[in-house]
Amino acid sequence: MTDFQCHVYTAAEPGIFANSYLLETDDGVVLIDANLLVADAEALAARLAALRKPLLAAFVTHPHPDHFNGLPYVVPETVPVYATAAVAKEIEQSADAKREQWRPVYGDQWPDRYRVPEHLLATGDGVDVGGLRVTVHDIGPAESHADSYIVARSGDRRAAFIGDLAFGSMHSYLSDGHSGHWLAALDRIARDLRGVPLLPGHGPSGDASMLDAQRRYLMMYRETIERLARGASSLTDDDKHELTRTMTRFSPDARLDWLVGLGADAVAAELAADDREPAPRTQQ
Ligand SMILES: [Zn+2]
Repeated sequence: MTDFQCHVYTAAEPGIFANSYLLETDDGVVLIDANLLVADAEALAARLAALRKPLLAAFVTHPHPDHFNGLPYVVPETVPVYATAAVAKEIEQSADAKREQWRPVYGDQWPDRYRVPEHLLATGDGVDVGGLRVTVHDIGPAESHADSYIVARSGDRRAAFIGDLAFGSMHSYLSDGHSGHWLAALDRIARDLRGVPLLPGHGPSGDASMLDAQRRYLMMYRETIERLARGASSLTDDDKHELTRTMTRFSPDARLDWLVGLGADAVAAELAADDREPAPRTQQ
């Protein structure tokens, strides 16, 4: 029976600790996510080359640049790239704007080209590749505008690549403003992935306790914004500092505290909109 080894390549802080996974089987290698910066993508390509096996396919969990930017540097054009239709569409629509936004910060380390996944999978669809069965599960908006998780299976062994649906060891990116959907998504994947090892887009792998920790983080973040914003759709700079102080006290070991303030206005706007349009009550 085919088994697989899971190698992880992790960027340093400039590449926001992004994980890419290389699943090695007897027949070849499957890539999950491709990192952010040119130097990390090249190092990932070197790690792949050192395995001395062909790259058979690549998958992208969600349409944030720290997960797709490296594709042209790692994946030859002849190798298929898979994602949900929503992930591919969002990459296509946002990649140029993201480059414009971040190139002044990252300079030549931001790739000058990108690749949109061209093999689109519906939720639950799978691909047999290298002796593995790889399935994609559409989650909708959560950490990004279009999240998914990917399960690789070989015999009884399964591993779930959850993208940024749970952050290990760093603060959360909340700038896409879907924290309510994200909380609901955590409940769903806790049910769907019971007992399956979880491999996140940042930080170490873990189990369902990662999802619980992410849920607590999001609830604390939302509660703090609600208290500070008092219904407004943005926060003052002082309030953002207070939010950052609160979240760093809440998660004292988490890295990248600049992410806390970055997402504040998006979540304040989300909560203000929720107040205007209360969710329909569920029938008792
Ligand atoms: Zn990420």
